[in-house]
Amino acid sequence: MHSMRLEYATESIVLIVLLSVSIILAYNQKTKHPGNLSRSSMRVLYSIYVPLIGNFIAILAGSSIVSIIGYTILLLGMNLMILNMFTFAMDYCEFRYRGTLLQRLISLLITLNCLSTIANIFLHHIFTVKLDSISGTSSEKIFRIQSSFGRYINFAVLTVVMLVIVFAFVSKCIRVAHPYQEKYRILLSGFILCIIWETYTVLSNSAYDRSAIGYVFCGFLIYYFSFCYKPIFIKRYLSDSVIENHTDGIIFYDIDVNPIYANDKAYRILQVSDNTPDKCTDRLLDITGGVDINNDFDISSRYKDNEDNYRYININHRLMKDKNGYKIGSFFNIHDSTEEVLRNQERRWRSNHDELTGLYNKSRFIELVNAERYRNPSGKFYMIVSDINDFKFFNEVFGREEADHILVAIAQQITEICHNDTIYCRWNGDLFAAFARDQDVNLDELDKLVRSKASGITRINRQIIIHLGIYAVSGNDITTNSIVDRCLLAIASIKDDYSKRIVVYDDKLRKSRLWEQQITSDLDDAIEKQQIVPYIQPQYNDEGILEGGEMLVRWNHPTEGFLSPARFIPIIERNGMISKVDRYMWESACVILAKWKNTGKKLNLSINISPKDFYFMDIYKELTDLITKYDIQPARLHLEITETSVMNNAQENISTLNRLREYGFTVEMDDFGSGYSSLNMLKDMPIDVLKIDMVFLSKTSNRDKSTIILQSIINMANELQLPQITEGVETRNQLDMLRRMGCKLFQGYYFSKPVPLDEFEALPDKAF
Ligand code: C2E
Ligand code: CA
Ligand code: CA
Repeated sequence: MHSMRLEYATESIVLIVLLSVSIILAYNQKTKHPGNLSRSSMRVLYSIYVPLIGNFIAILAGSSIVSIIGYTILLLGMNLMILNMFTFAMDYCEFRYRGTLLQRLISLLITLNCLSTIANIFLHHIFTVKLDSISGTSSEKIFRIQSSFGRYINFAVLTVVMLVIVFAFVSKCIRVAHPYQEKYRILLSGFILCIIWETYTVLSNSAYDRSAIGYVFCGFLIYYFSFCYKPIFIKRYLSDSVIENHTDGIIFYDIDVNPIYANDKAYRILQVSDNTPDKCTDRLLDITGGVDINNDFDISSRYKDNEDNYRYININHRLMKDKNGYKIGSFFNIHDSTEEVLRNQERRWRSNHDELTGLYNKSRFIELVNAERYRNPSGKFYMIVSDINDFKFFNEVFGREEADHILVAIAQQITEICHNDTIYCRWNGDLFAAFARDQDVNLDELDKLVRSKASGITRINRQIIIHLGIYAVSGNDITTNSIVDRCLLAIASIKDDYSKRIVVYDDKLRKSRLWEQQITSDLDDAIEKQQIVPYIQPQYNDEGILEGGEMLVRWNHPTEGFLSPARFIPIIERNGMISKVDRYMWESACVILAKWKNTGKKLNLSINISPKDFYFMDIYKELTDLITKYDIQPARLHLEITETSVMNNAQENISTLNRLREYGFTVEMDDFGSGYSSLNMLKDMPIDVLKIDMVFLSKTSNRDKSTIILQSIINMANELQLPQITEGVETRNQLDMLRRMGCKLFQGYYFSKPVPLDEFEALPDKAF
């Protein structure tokens, strides 16, 4: 027997089964999609069970009360389901709705709807049931739902919520980018279909509520879009736009190597103006000079653009194959690397060149010179280093810009002068270096060249002096750096000599420099360890009586042996360290004088005062402090100064000497006759004694002239009432001559060499 009731029941069961399948599938997917959306979509799916079960009960109901319970469950379930659907829709459309007024309002409406539905059991304001035949032809009777006014309100509330859901989808659809609209549009259509179906079932007043079909349909859509949907075409859409907007040029070919498409960048890189991919291919073949488009390859190429500048491109060609390995086409990827290449070129240039002058820099120079020396180990070369005298002065006085101008001008001249095979660079600061084959260098020419070229350089009214230090290179025994160092050493040796412009290094220079360094670094220690010893050379008067002596320094060096002043005084005089020695010698003299004072010896001691002492210390304070400290008579201490001391900074040093004389010291002018000996100076010099240099006694060919000059000096000094002492007296003859000439004091080997204190004290008081 055909039963409509059975048919509906079966339909309900089928729907329940379909729903269950969706739920099981969704449940399996759930773990992969954590988060609010999967939770809320599961909740919708579960809640669809409730109206389905209600419907099922209503269909099978044998009494009106069971039927009413069934329909009540159906209506409550719908409310629950739509509430969950709202939550789902909000999550799906990514609206933040939790805790909003809208959420509360909707919850309230649904709750009222549910209460009203429950109240219907007693009030029958929504529906009642009536035993009725299912259709006109059948005798089969069921409890048919009879809608009252309340059902429409109930329905209206649900419709409002559904409209809110629809509104959410529509507004999302409008705002989301085109390729993503699908996701919303399909679900939206499903919901709308569901609403239409629902409306139809309510209005058609059919025997059973068949709206459940719509719910299950919606449930399936929700399951699908929440868990399964993968927007495949978005991938294509995205890859299309990646290619269109790619920073590299891309050209596609079909299987027959017909160009199908070229992106904008390809047209721009290849400078093809009309939009035909064929032209791009032609241009590409033109640039590369022809390539085999049937294979993969990577090449780099360059071409001249419309502005005649080189552009550099990297071209990759790749075949495209399907899953089975059949060729489906190919594509070019064209990367414009011009900027990178230029940047690299510039970086390489910078790392090899000096920015200001454009010459090679030091490191590149060394590299090239080393390569040349390696290539030609037995070759003979010259390393020539140029140095601008007093370049600091130009920098400070004329400013950096002018100084830079000088450097650029020198660089230019070097470029002009140098032979093609010569390697040259700006070494650093004002130093330039050139490495030339010896046949390309003529040292005599070089001297003239450096004088004439240097004079033309500066725009300012000051002559530039350039010194060249030259080292003859043969063999590979010293590094290029050391070679340049030796050139610099050579330059340093003529720095103060304005007559010399070029100097060729020889090994003595290096040895003397090493010696200087050793002396300088050993000196402090030497004073402390009393390796510095005062010697004394006696001075006698014209009656042969011992008057005193001159303090002369000796260095008892632990490794170098006994050093006379000539070995170290000039060196420490240059760097000012002489003051340390002098201070020590002066104090030694005072100690001796103090001792003699106690033992009743009435002798004088002369000490030497270097011109540098005037710079490096307060001589007046230094000496007067010593006098006070040792409580001695200042007149016993004779101060030997040279004319150089008063030549530089004359005024100030003369006043110092005056103050020293006023204090009671005896000031002697040392080495008179050996230096400039401006007689005029004697007039202004505040001195007590003239110490005549030994030059006049030395064995020169012009003995007669020397004697005449000596006699004149003595006469003049006597007339100026200036006592004299003559040093370097070596023989009895010399002594007798000097006595005849009227000299009163003598010092020299005839009497004694400089000796240590104990020997000095043992000397006879009378020499003859
Ligand atoms: P000086 O001050 O003119 O000292 C005289 C030099 O002549 C001494 O040389 C002495 O040994 C030498 N001499 C003395 N008599 C004769 C002689 O008959 N024949 C010859 N040929 N030479 C004689 P020394 O001691 O080697 O000193 C050389 C120079 O070193 C000194 O010349 C002085 O300028 C400097 N010096 C020595 N000791 C000191 C010092 O303590 N301080 C400073 N600032 N300079 C010193
Ligand atoms: Ca002296
Ligand atoms: Ca002297």
